[in-house]
Amino acid sequence: MPELKVSNFSRFFALLLLYEKPRHGYELLKEVGHRLGQRQSAGQVYPFLRTLQRRHYVSVEQTGNRRKKVFELTPEGRKFVRSLLEKFDTLLEASVRSHLRTCSHCKCTLYESGIRKRINGKTRFFCCENCARAIQHSKQEIQHAARHKERVS
Ligand SMILES: [Zn+2]
Repeated sequence: MPELKVSNFSRFFALLLLYEKPRHGYELLKEVGHRLGQRQSAGQVYPFLRTLQRRHYVSVEQTGNRRKKVFELTPEGRKFVRSLLEKFDTLLEASVRSHLRTCSHCKCTLYESGIRKRINGKTRFFCCENCARAIQHSKQEIQHAARHKERVS
């Protein structure tokens, strides 16, 4: 069988929800809609559950007097979800990395923290006060040296 393509968010969320815990089909439908902020039709979710079942990614158990179906990921299915998450992670990381700032002094990558300073009318970012001071000092030294030179000449 070719690799299963998870080409839309409804499917992706359905898998994530099943990864959390086994769920009834209807519960899954409601929860996917809730997380996506968009009501899902049974036709969007149930055929996908059947596909998962055919691939032995989910097992189905009928419980209660109303014989409600509970879907649970098999070890194989959990492995599949983890591989999806890894792929997603790589994509996300590449995209996040392209938007990350680096420290103006040591060039390390700034994630959440970081210090913003205005130096010579330009906003610059630093990882810590030490780096900020290091740049400010070297700037002051240059300016000082320049002034000093003016005075001398
Ligand atoms: Zn730094």
